[in-house]
Amino acid sequence: MLEDLEPVKAFRSCKIRTLKDDLDPKDQELLDTYLADVETWTPHKLSRALGSKGLKIDHRQIDQHRDMMCSCKDAVK
Ligand SMILES: [Zn+2]
Repeated sequence: MLEDLEPVKAFRSCKIRTLKDDLDPKDQELLDTYLADVETWTPHKLSRALGSKGLKIDHRQIDQHRDMMCSCKDAVK
């Protein structure tokens, strides 16, 4: 019964990407800009600012996404 056992994927689906899918193109672009601006937007600040817009993202997920420790890693070629 264990023939098709496979290791569990270490990376879960990225919450940033899930969230981005729900935004319109302009907001997607803006979010990318904020994510790229690590000086201004520390994970905590970005998490809180997005939260004030009703978008719940944990700062750790922002960190993971920036470090490509998320499922986006597999999506990028
Ligand atoms: Zn990601």
